[in-house]
Amino acid sequence: MTYSYYIAAGSNIHPRREYINRAVSALTRHGRIAGESPLYRSAAYGVREQAEFLNAVLEWHSDLPPLEALALLKRIEKETGRRESFRWGPREIDLDIIDYNGREWHDEQLTIPHADFENRLFVLYPLRDVAPDYRNRRGQTLTRLIENCSDRGEISLYTPEAYVP
Ligand code: AMP
Repeated sequence: MTYSYYIAAGSNIHPRREYINRAVSALTRHGRIAGESPLYRSAAYGVREQAEFLNAVLEWHSDLPPLEALALLKRIEKETGRRESFRWGPREIDLDIIDYNGREWHDEQLTIPHADFENRLFVLYPLRDVAPDYRNRRGQTLTRLIENCSDRGEISLYTPEAYVP
């Protein structure tokens, strides 16, 4: 069976784009990238006094079921260069599973849909680019979720012309 995952990727340690690119290529070795959002710049969430993030969302098709996919994401984070940090601290690369095949997963290790994604504009915007028809389990569109989102952090499209590595 092939699973269709939405994966959120983020980095706020130089070189951010390079870390995200490395994670994307690692994912292609274990499945297929079926969609890739543009990059966004977003103010740090949670612990605010830190560098801004670059964020993207990927649609990734893979034969790996959820717990194996999560284990792979953790391995890719390590191999891509992620070092230990504190909760919501700066990170070279962060990979999260946002949703998969419109189904649910709930255990100690993994929650799908991601428990907090509706509160994060840096997930909702790029997810809408990749999956414009996405609806949450209550039938709400991403545009609706963006309008009602409690996150007031700054977010903008990343433009290479104004390159900030
Ligand atoms: P993070 O700090 O974002 O790397 O995530 C910390 C932990 O959250 C991971 O070790 C996972 O076990 C757990 N987790 C729960 N749900 C998810 C999810 N949907 N995607 C990624 N990690 C998750």
